[in-house]
Amino acid sequence: MTILDGKATSKAIREEIAVEVGKLKASGKKVPHLAAVIVGSDGASQTYVNAKVKDCRDVGFESTHIELPEETSEEDVLKQIEALNNDPEIDGYIVQLPLPKHIDEQRVLLAIDPAKDVDGFHPASVGKMVLGLDTFISATPWGIMELLKRYNVPTSGKNCVVIGRSNIVGRPMSILLSMPTEPGNCTVTLAHSRTKNLVELCYNADIVVAALGRPEFVTANMIKEGATVIDVGITRVKDETKKSGFALKGDVKFDEVAPKCAFITPVPGGVGPMTRAALMRNTLKAIDFKD
Ligand code: NAP
Repeated sequence: MTILDGKATSKAIREEIAVEVGKLKASGKKVPHLAAVIVGSDGASQTYVNAKVKDCRDVGFESTHIELPEETSEEDVLKQIEALNNDPEIDGYIVQLPLPKHIDEQRVLLAIDPAKDVDGFHPASVGKMVLGLDTFISATPWGIMELLKRYNVPTSGKNCVVIGRSNIVGRPMSILLSMPTEPGNCTVTLAHSRTKNLVELCYNADIVVAALGRPEFVTANMIKEGATVIDVGITRVKDETKKSGFALKGDVKFDEVAPKCAFITPVPGGVGPMTRAALMRNTLKAIDFKD
């Protein structure tokens, strides 16, 4: 059994990006500049944005952290988006989700210039991905594909079940794994809460991607010997033994599933760090999409 080490792989990716930034600097070019917009004071969102700003620093990018108060109107958020679209200094930016309830998330995401859409959530980015064109691919699916690639996990002709059909994880994951690429070329089943016989579907799969957000949902009886299991889930579960008062749980019951696997990602240290690295890679890529 091989553990797909997202921490080490993401470190390698960040080092590669830092080398590219060094080359840009050496040739007198501008270094990539990522902006992150956060509306309100949601604790988890603050933590995520701080981590992204730190990653930028580590790879040598410029970063700008824009904090807007919780009560900011939708129109004012849209004005901020327009300013970022028109700012030649900013190569890419993200709007941290979730937004406060009074703001229409779709309207905000649609206002992002697709050439700066480093989260890859804009319909133009999603459409290009579906057609196999060069674009920003959303962070978690890109991170998983990169992990499969770097560990040479066999995917061609394999049966794959993706559990979860969200726009940011499950659905793009199912599309990427079905593409005529390496990794890719899988025969994919996209499962969700209405799926029947999920245990049987998973048991017949060579690759299972669990992205449903239910701690330890995938158990040993659902996985066949020699399968590859990718655990996307991250759920905070109360744990008095931890200083923080909680533990992070994946969607896979790791201890009983891992011994059956050819490859498996741990939680933490698997998909999560790859998601962070993907944003840095997309920001570097943003330079190519500038006219
Ligand atoms: P989401 O939007 O809540 O979607 C969950 C999906 O799982 C839905 O499609 C839902 O089906 C399906 N589902 C729920 N219960 C199910 C069940 N019992 N059987 C089969 N399918 C079921 O979640 P998400 O944003 O995709 O995130 C999923 C998990 O990944 C969460 O734990 C999240 O924290 C984590 N995550 C991790 C990273 C990372 O970097 N590691 C990044 C993003 C998300 P319906 O569509 O029918 O409701």
